[in-house]
Amino acid sequence: MLALHVLASGSSGNAAVVENVVTGAGVLIDCGICKRDFLSRCDQAGFNPARIEAAFVTHEHGDHVKGLGVVLRGLAKLGCQPPIYVARGCVANSDALAKVAEAFEVHELAAAAGAVATAGADVGAIEAAARASAIEAAGVRVIPFATSHDAAASFGFRIEDAADGDAIGYLTDSGVVTPAAHAALADVRILALESNHDPKMLAAGPYPYVVKQRIASDAGHLSNGQAAAELAALVSASRAAGQREPQTVVAMHISQNNNEYSLAKRTLEAALAEANCAADVLCGYQARLTSAR
Ligand SMILES: [Zn+2]
Ligand SMILES: [Zn+2]
Repeated sequence: MLALHVLASGSSGNAAVVENVVTGAGVLIDCGICKRDFLSRCDQAGFNPARIEAAFVTHEHGDHVKGLGVVLRGLAKLGCQPPIYVARGCVANSDALAKVAEAFEVHELAAAAGAVATAGADVGAIEAAARASAIEAAGVRVIPFATSHDAAASFGFRIEDAADGDAIGYLTDSGVVTPAAHAALADVRILALESNHDPKMLAAGPYPYVVKQRIASDAGHLSNGQAAAELAALVSASRAAGQREPQTVVAMHISQNNNEYSLAKRTLEAALAEANCAADVLCGYQARLTSAR
């Protein structure tokens, strides 16, 4: 059985832990927050950070990596030195990641997901390639998939409990839902899905035109409406295939300038109600913990 602890989510900093609740071990996804926040939110979650057995980086943007080096040094003092999975292109594009790669054991993530990206829109081929690229740590299987974002490389993850098949889907920082993402996010119990902005608030908001265009583009971030449409598509595809529907949906990377937590939550709840799915919707917050169990 798995739990998802969203330590922080939003444009100022992102970090999450997937915990294997049977063993207390876990894997880290991104660390764009400071060590103090990282440690205090792990503590609130009841998760011992010294039990992190692998760290995964979605992409090199600062809101996902800026705290990683300091946190890893802190973990090393606790005797915890997890392998880090990150794309080489991301390391080349980020001073913060280059420093991490100098000091710690780094493994290539792009090679694993490369096969997924080249499998095109054939869901069966994507699933086969994704399974072949799975990384095992902490009693879980982490399956990376390619996302669509303006980074050197970018990934989301499907995380499966190797013992009981429990599964979590994790997608942030993607302008569209890629075929690989759609395939990987089906049949999960907990779904963490980007619901970044409301298009009207973005258009009327304070950002410069080029930034607005970037966020709304296919290589930007998912809007509330895109997240809602994907949720509906996932529920109907899961039903048609006799697979699990999500029980808990966590709205992720919610913009504090171009969205409201309550609006993202309502939009996803409405899509679930329309699809006759009883899942709970939570929000990942910028400055406090959300745990989905
Ligand atoms: Zn981001
Ligand atoms: Zn990003």
